[in-house]
Amino acid sequence: METMSKNIIVLGPPGAGKGTQAEKITENFGIPLIDIGEILRHHKDIEVDHKTVREYLKNGELLPDEVVMDLFEKRLRKPDTAQGFVLDDAPRDKVQAQELEEIIEIGLVLHINASKENIKERITGRRICKECGEIYHTKYNPPDQEGTCDKCGGKLIQRDDDTEEVLEERLEVYREKTKPLVEYYRKKGLLEEIDGNRPIEQVWKDVKKEVEKIE
Ligand code: ADP
Ligand code: ZN
Repeated sequence: METMSKNIIVLGPPGAGKGTQAEKITENFGIPLIDIGEILRHHKDIEVDHKTVREYLKNGELLPDEVVMDLFEKRLRKPDTAQGFVLDDAPRDKVQAQELEEIIEIGLVLHINASKENIKERITGRRICKECGEIYHTKYNPPDQEGTCDKCGGKLIQRDDDTEEVLEERLEVYREKTKPLVEYYRKKGLLEEIDGNRPIEQVWKDVKKEVEKIE
């Protein structure tokens, strides 16, 4: 029997809990988390239009779509994705989704949603390990020792854009770009809606059930 890989996309507004659930998927199912930020950091010396990726990152500039998709393709061809992978917060729009389709078949798209009130509380309380990227929350998922990562002892930091001030702008990007993607995958029959307005472990129960369904 042919087995379908667990090729998963996680979408949703900022702070809904995508990264938290994506991390759980990778831990439980042994498939890698693919994150474009990390891929770019691994290719800092590549030159695009006479500028290195490092310079793009430093200036907060967006890399051309085709460069991003090339790097995705390279990453998705590595042998550790044989059983599947989780793409957190990618593709970013319909054009990227269509290009992704040419590279690889997607098995499940999880749309994790949460109320604006919850989103606000979550992004302002979010803390991330500077060393390993583990996600914490000052109230909902605190580390054993304040400011220190349970997993690696690294220092916990707050992302520059995790403020109430820029939330509105980030939500606008989500409404404009990601929402149409959600509809796109719904039409393809790949979408599962997950109610993210519940404690992490309850959300996880639903997410796990959906991932287990992909054989
Ligand atoms: P996203 O990847 O969607 O931006 P994260 O997974 O980073 O969201 O979660 C945002 C913040 O909310 C983090 O601080 C995380 O610990 C916390 N969090 C995630 N899921 C929940 C939940 N279901 N209930 C409460 N807090 C949560
Ligand atoms: Zn850490």
